[in-house]
Amino acid sequence: MRVRLNQVSKFFGKTAAVDNVSLEVADGELFFLLGPSGCGKTTLLRLLAGFYQPDAGQIFFGDHPMNAVAPERRNCGMVFQNYALWPHMTVEGNVAYGLDVRKIKAEEKEARVREALQIVKMSEYASRPVNQLSGGQQQRVALARAIVIRPDVLLLDEPLSNLDARLRLSMRNEIRRIHAQTRITTFYVTHDQSEALSMADHIAILNQGRIEQIGTPSELYCKPNSPFAADFMGEINWIDAVVEEPGSGRRVCVRSGEFLWEVASTRPWIKGTEVRIGFRPESVSFSHGSAENSFPATILETFYLGGQQETLLKTGFLGDQSVRALEINPGKNDSANKLKTVSIDAEQILIFEKSSK
Ligand code: ATP
Repeated sequence: MRVRLNQVSKFFGKTAAVDNVSLEVADGELFFLLGPSGCGKTTLLRLLAGFYQPDAGQIFFGDHPMNAVAPERRNCGMVFQNYALWPHMTVEGNVAYGLDVRKIKAEEKEARVREALQIVKMSEYASRPVNQLSGGQQQRVALARAIVIRPDVLLLDEPLSNLDARLRLSMRNEIRRIHAQTRITTFYVTHDQSEALSMADHIAILNQGRIEQIGTPSELYCKPNSPFAADFMGEINWIDAVVEEPGSGRRVCVRSGEFLWEVASTRPWIKGTEVRIGFRPESVSFSHGSAENSFPATILETFYLGGQQETLLKTGFLGDQSVRALEINPGKNDSANKLKTVSIDAEQILIFEKSSK
């Protein structure tokens, strides 16, 4: 089911929890709503479910306007943070509940419950009360209960937040597998950018009720269109600079202290504009000095993390500000105070006007 929001707003008193949001989600997509606490993710999900009415704008499922349609007639499946299962009922009973409400005949009900439990790999637990299941198993039952009704749209509200770190990782794969198998259009709310990056077809980053940016995981990570989106998608080194030479239309030269940076940018720049440039820690290479944007830096500290190593570096033209580098498969551990040459590819440096947020 294709879903479209057209200039949707929802206010609580003077707070715009959702502020003029327009977006379109294709049939069968796994679409993420990502943002910090209070940015309006849950409110948006509840608007889709029909628990809230928009104060402005329209919601469409396919070509059908949904604003006036009651929640129980929207054919949405929902999975909540706390699963909201019936603790005294069996797995089977929980999954069948939505079908009982819809008065589905016994034979079809049994077949659909069986199929849903197979999809989430919980068939062998069918007759167990849910209060005798682990958190991960309860999560699977909640998913089975949501998909058994064959919803047009599946709404998942931070579905992994109650699980421990290891289980969260394996359930990411499970949800992707279940989504690939069912191809139900799914909205997934999270504040965890790594969850969104690793699972989504598309992500909308929300900031104070508004959409900051919509894109694929790699577009948002590599080409964020604001400092907020860049920060939210992962760690980044920010450096203040001033445009020195507007450049050719593909490159701009900016200065911080006595250092001149080459930065890829197709935007026209005016000499003297105050900017912020940013690059991710993994974009910092340890080089031999001939690469572009290379400069000497002293190691302040290294943090060995197993498969990767984080290094804090200090360089003359940045004063007290340090630069964070991340090496994958680190070789031997360099000691503090060692002098290195580092470089950053111009294509991997972001540039924003200093006034942008
Ligand atoms: P979290 O990640 O913490 O769950 P969220 O992104 O889901 O946050 P929402 O719960 O949608 O954010 O809240 C968005 C804004 O609307 C917040 O400022 C919140 O305080 C406010 N808000 C949400 N629900 C209500 C309500 N029922 N009454 C009043 N204000 C509300």
